[in-house]
Amino acid sequence: MSEPKHCAHPGCKARPLTGSDLCHFHSPDRQAALAEARRKGGANSHKGRFRPPTSEAECREMLANVAAAMLNRKIPSRVGQPVIAALNSLLKGYEQVELARLNKILESQNAQSNA
Ligand SMILES: [Zn+2]
Repeated sequence: MSEPKHCAHPGCKARPLTGSDLCHFHSPDRQAALAEARRKGGANSHKGRFRPPTSEAECREMLANVAAAMLNRKIPSRVGQPVIAALNSLLKGYEQVELARLNKILESQNAQSNA
């Protein structure tokens, strides 16, 4: 018994599946599996999208999450370490902004009590 060389779908040059004259992409049996794979791929690519932290609290939360992911071996430390360093410097920035805000309040209170 000779198998056809190419998929029977017009214009498709892919090798047909064993016992079929259609390829992996055009066999109706595979359509559900392919749709599921595409759906999963979409879900995974969405999961991988990170949003930068926009507050000191989010920064601390993300730091804790990255540290936990490293400890649970979900991400290698060569990936986690620079992320932790970046988050730490971002956190320092937030802390400086907060310190400056508190200083301003103290200064205005001092100015009022000296008046
Ligand atoms: Zn095909």
